[in-house]
Amino acid sequence: MLTKKEIITALASVPGPDGKTPLPDSGALSDIMISGGRVVFSITADPAQSGRLEAMRLAAERAVKGIAGVDMALVTLTAERPAQPAASTRPSGQPARMRPGPARARTPIVGVSHVIAVASGKGGVGKSTTAANLALALSGEGLRVGILDADIYGPSMPRLFGLKGRPEVTQTRVIRPLEAHGLKIMSMGFLVSEETAMVWRGPMVAGAVQQLLREVAWEPLDLLVVDMPPGTGDAQLTLAQSIVLAGAVIVSTPQDLALIDARRGVEMFRKVNAPILGIIENMSSFVCPNCGARHDIFGHGGARREATRIGVPFLGEIPLELALRESSDEGTPIVAARPDSPITAAYRDIARRVKEAIK
Ligand code: ADP
Repeated sequence: MLTKKEIITALASVPGPDGKTPLPDSGALSDIMISGGRVVFSITADPAQSGRLEAMRLAAERAVKGIAGVDMALVTLTAERPAQPAASTRPSGQPARMRPGPARARTPIVGVSHVIAVASGKGGVGKSTTAANLALALSGEGLRVGILDADIYGPSMPRLFGLKGRPEVTQTRVIRPLEAHGLKIMSMGFLVSEETAMVWRGPMVAGAVQQLLREVAWEPLDLLVVDMPPGTGDAQLTLAQSIVLAGAVIVSTPQDLALIDARRGVEMFRKVNAPILGIIENMSSFVCPNCGARHDIFGHGGARREATRIGVPFLGEIPLELALRESSDEGTPIVAARPDSPITAAYRDIARRVKEAIK
């Protein structure tokens, strides 16, 4: 059994942010989380010193990895900053402030040709469901596809794909993603419990997402689908800024309020110069399984009108369909569970448009 004491002893050989005080005495170390052979912690430091801090982060990681029984160490750099209101709580029209992410530059992800973000202005609109099915449909188009679940506070991919395993760590200490239906899938939900992630502060989450992007054996992939955390706050902006994005897909329900949030999503990606691949209307209409009549519960067509109005492509509609939720709850997204269903056909149409747009 690994103990915190062992970790702290190992870290005593690593100088902290000032270059001399040992890390455990520097006051910069977060709580250390140990789960099996996995060790996760963060170091708080001034982002202005980013070059030197990365060397310290690596040294800390090396020191911990050297302890017998440690098979994965996730050390993140966090920057203390004054709290900022989330973009979604600012008066509308006021842009989110652009600030650099924690000590990382915008660099490509090794072995991944294109990255697309699937985002929504708020939670509960079906973003993760869409990301999972879109990824499967894109894989059906002959692409090698992976999914990164970047929603650390509410990871959905373990449930959507019925995955419970732990990712292996390779000889070169890189995390190997899990696989399902031909997709490579990585989620913080595979590494730590949801309760553990819940107590993390924003900068630590940002650091963890960066490691899932860059220290996972993704290659070779034609396309990595990033299921973004819901919303358009600073965390989302920082993440969008740190990746070279081939484009962003915005998921919205047809309601006016959801569309206002979706517009914020479009604004956010425009700000970081990521092409908007388009908007998907989810829960578009409801076809009654008994009488076959269509009911527009949330007012169908809103996203298409909004897309036209703000000048971005409209990618398609996915109806409200019980089978979609059921298949997700059972751990097989509908594109894999019912490849011949009309909903799967709708996802495939959207996937073809996305594929065409990123060419
Ligand atoms: P988000 O990622 O935006 O928070 P989820 O993808 O987790 O949303 O979806 C929220 C809930 O809505 C889930 O229970 C999911 O199964 C359900 N859901 C999503 N899209 C549909 C749809 N088109 N029809 C029926 N249920 C849906």
